[in-house]
Amino acid sequence: MTRSQTEIDAPAAFSLDGYAALIDQFLARGYQVRSYTEALADQPHLILRHDLDMSLQAARHIAAIESERELRAHYFVLLRTEMYNPWSARGRADLMAIADAGHEIGLHLDASLYPDRLDALNEACAVECDALEQIIGRAVSMVSLHRPHKSLLGLKDSLGGRPHSYQPRFFSDIGYCSDSRGAWYHGHPSDHPAVLDKRALQLLTHPIWWVTDGEAVAKLDRFAEERDDLLRAELAANCEPYGAARAARSGRRTA
Ligand SMILES: [Zn+2]
Repeated sequence: MTRSQTEIDAPAAFSLDGYAALIDQFLARGYQVRSYTEALADQPHLILRHDLDMSLQAARHIAAIESERELRAHYFVLLRTEMYNPWSARGRADLMAIADAGHEIGLHLDASLYPDRLDALNEACAVECDALEQIIGRAVSMVSLHRPHKSLLGLKDSLGGRPHSYQPRFFSDIGYCSDSRGAWYHGHPSDHPAVLDKRALQLLTHPIWWVTDGEAVAKLDRFAEERDDLLRAELAANCEPYGAARAARSGRRTA
């Protein structure tokens, strides 16, 4: 069965039910979910990768869908981001819930923050992996790059002494498909040539696109509003006059 582009990009497909259906579709085709180190290129093996660009909380919903099916996925966490704090009480609780469900936590490295040299990148990666290991109290054995420059796609070398998700064995020797920008801009994963051949596929999804309904821009607007509510609640908790002024304002609105 072939799908039209409209059907592929239909916002309804990018929902929690849509994610569950996508995974079930792969399982029904005989695919097995494997880790990076266990996946074999010529087998119907699926590597589930999630880059957490915006929200740790969103990832918990995706992790639950996988856990219900006893599947293990890879979740990659940014340390140097304005979007979330993996060491806040809330952030760490989200991460530990994912790790305790049996999923692997890896480092999502933003290479653009470092000098454009492999030695500098290796050192930075090792430092960030150490920091993440301190936060989660577990070994970090895999790295993925955040919005990598073209020169890093297909980089053979490991980073910070660890394999990374753009090495040829995970990126070009097997299939690769991503939901970047909230749609399958490079084709639906089911239609990927590797999948049609029953070969291995690395499937990259970003949980933020799957946890709320609607168009991609509306999803991010909703996410921003929720973050704003959280920030204001923290401001109120940390500054009494601010909290009192907010309460008085909302009292006046509801009066
Ligand atoms: Zn990213």
